[in-house]
Amino acid sequence: MTMTDMTPVDSGIQERVQDVLAKTPTGLLINGQWRAASDGGTFNVENPATEEILATLASATREDAAAAIDAAAEAQSSWARTPARTRAELLRRSFDLVQERADDLALLMTLEMGKPLAEAAGEVKYGGEFLRWYSEEAARDYGRHMEAPEGHLRMLVSKKPVGPCLLITPWNFPLAMATRKIAPAIAAGCTMVLKPARLTPLTSQYFAQLMIEAGIPAGVLNVVSSALAAAVSEPIMADPRLRKISFTGSTPVGKALMKVATDNVLRTSMELGGNGPLIVFEDADLDKAVAGAMAAKMRNMGEACTAANRLLVHETIADQFVAKLAEKMKALTVGNGLNHGINVGPMIEAKARESLEALVQDAVDRGAKIVVGGSRIDGPGHFFEPTLLTNVPAEARVLREEIFGPVAPVVTFSSENEAVAMANSTEYGLASYVFTENISRGLRIGDRIEFGLMGLNVGVISNAAAPFGGVKQSGLGREGGAEGIAEYTTTQYIGIENPWDTLPAETPQSRQTRGN
Ligand code: NAD
Repeated sequence: MTMTDMTPVDSGIQERVQDVLAKTPTGLLINGQWRAASDGGTFNVENPATEEILATLASATREDAAAAIDAAAEAQSSWARTPARTRAELLRRSFDLVQERADDLALLMTLEMGKPLAEAAGEVKYGGEFLRWYSEEAARDYGRHMEAPEGHLRMLVSKKPVGPCLLITPWNFPLAMATRKIAPAIAAGCTMVLKPARLTPLTSQYFAQLMIEAGIPAGVLNVVSSALAAAVSEPIMADPRLRKISFTGSTPVGKALMKVATDNVLRTSMELGGNGPLIVFEDADLDKAVAGAMAAKMRNMGEACTAANRLLVHETIADQFVAKLAEKMKALTVGNGLNHGINVGPMIEAKARESLEALVQDAVDRGAKIVVGGSRIDGPGHFFEPTLLTNVPAEARVLREEIFGPVAPVVTFSSENEAVAMANSTEYGLASYVFTENISRGLRIGDRIEFGLMGLNVGVISNAAAPFGGVKQSGLGREGGAEGIAEYTTTQYIGIENPWDTLPAETPQSRQTRGN
């Protein structure tokens, strides 16, 4: 039986909620000004834990989107000429402001997305680190100068900002998905239009105001929250001045945007869906593996692209592993993430919970056994029990699709070859996790596994200093690390005549003038 705590939040928090909502701008940020939508349209943002309306925001139209790309294009050339140190200091100030306002940001994320406050605070830390990391990288993005091998040219290779960017973010990590794009774009000298997810735009709205306080010039960051995603992306992507799209979201939407991006030959970064395996070998430290599985599966209520979607466990230890994991999952408390002691918040919306129910039902119809949970929790809010499934047949949808919820299907294997084949049998290739105390085996799996990320004996590996991204249909490009800024720069090569070729031939007269 799952523990639930549906106590209403206390009045002290309610006051802070009103305060942070009052500080969150509700307009569109275009050319440094917050303004209403061109047609006066709005949309509501709901709290998924209570289904109450948190805020009503301006909903950007095609005209607003056009104004936003105008502002970004207008600001691009002067922004590109700003010294790297100026951009670095802006990023550093914004990092400091994020630390100062960490409680506000965490509260907003819990309100609009549902994750427990402690996890929201973790995201503030993680998301803020992109600002610090890229403040440090901004002045270190070197070019090079060399002589052509044939000796007839000097070669000057420079990094330049790619140009105005469209940044589209998902609802599940409202701060980190935005800073992971905005920080390297600023460091590289790009201007941008950010379109946050319709379900969780408040964190981006608040963060944009924080960037204004940090001193970002007008037009460099424009924010067009909207109920109409395509209406905003279409005019921007059709504008020849746009040079890049960076998208984080589902694979079907990413593929559709890639098709549109071909018309304008846009640089594309795509952080898409996942179907992550977590492999537990017979030589794993079982407690470590269970802790890793809890982190990789349950963080963010399972609503993470890096979530362990399939727990692949060696048959000789499967019963022990399931017993230990079941104990941990039963000990989780589900409820409003604003309350102390809550481990699992609501699903983001009604549709998300319905799709979870359908996945569990499909698995059960095909013979899976429910060990823990399995059902929705009634009442306001889209709550679903942490769920553990065993005996899940290979054809079950829960093993083939991205679950995006607190449902953990366990499947057994009998050999390393079988585990690798099972892990790789998906069109996705984002995050994977391996638990073994045999380091050679761990590194060998690293060679064999077709995933952009692998955690070895650890369930959470995201870090601002590391290149994050997938292979296969999980995407293109990397965010974070040195790779992250490269996504926002283009390379220019200037071939220069060899300066020695221009040395005037010596004459007796010039020899005399030179004095030797
Ligand atoms: P989504 O694809 O529905 O939406 C993502 C963003 O795209 C939102 O801002 C949305 O408004 C916008 N959008 C939707 N349709 C659009 C269209 N036709 N044109 C332009 N924009 C459009 O994804 P989501 O439900 O917000 O997020 C969950 C998905 O994101 C999951 O698949 C998850 O794996 C993925 N994700 C990936 C990463 C990663 O780094 N690889 C990180 C987080 C989430």
